[in-house]
Amino acid sequence: SARDGLGAYIAKPETYGPDVVVYHNDDFVAIHDMFPKSSLHLLLLPRDQTKTRIHPFDAFEDAEFLAKVKTETRTLRKLAAGELRRKYGKDSAQEQARQAALSADPPPDELPQGRDWEEDIVVGVHAVPSMNHLHVHVLSVDRYSERLKHRKHYNSFSTPFFVPIEDFPLAKDDVRRHPTEEGYLKRDFTCWRCGRGFGNRFAELKQHLEQEFKEWKKL
Ligand code: 5GP
Ligand code: ZN
Repeated sequence: SARDGLGAYIAKPETYGPDVVVYHNDDFVAIHDMFPKSSLHLLLLPRDQTKTRIHPFDAFEDAEFLAKVKTETRTLRKLAAGELRRKYGKDSAQEQARQAALSADPPPDELPQGRDWEEDIVVGVHAVPSMNHLHVHVLSVDRYSERLKHRKHYNSFSTPFFVPIEDFPLAKDDVRRHPTEEGYLKRDFTCWRCGRGFGNRFAELKQHLEQEFKEWKKL
């Protein structure tokens, strides 16, 4: 079924180009999400056959496996941050300050740090995944994409429906274990950046996300 679509990447990662498979090793395959919900949206697919068909909440109960996944997401987060720097670095005020300092004569002893793009990457899983093979989302915070077409697309990354990898292992009584009872996907929209509420006005939210995207890049 269409819900099994991620299986092919795990089985034969070498058959895809670099625009699809970012990298692969014995234990993981990193791919580009085919319907990105942010300007950069990657998926980390563990290849462990004993875990790939299991719900993330259950798979991550295995402490050794969870540690492995967390370590790999740190690698992918760095890689994604590098990608953001290449895409938006020239727009960013902090990067411009760093470049200016570098080209000063003589250059200052202490260079400005430059922007830490890793802070602009979020990593986690959906409480109710739609695709069957275990996958971890690694995406830029912007939620700016023409593929973000439905209210549930926004809320699935902007409410507790999205569970950050750092939050695992989950406590037994964590409310996020019961996402349908909580109704996360039906909640009113809240801007990820400024916290403004948009009720259920999706078109207005989308316009606002474009504005926020432009400002976020230049931060
Ligand atoms: P979920 O809602 O299950 O956590 O997220 C599944 C993700 O897989 C979605 O973001 C969706 O866009 C992505 N996706 C669905 N089918 C395919 C596919 O065939 N290839 C790739 N690369 N991504 C897919
Ligand atoms: Zn905002």
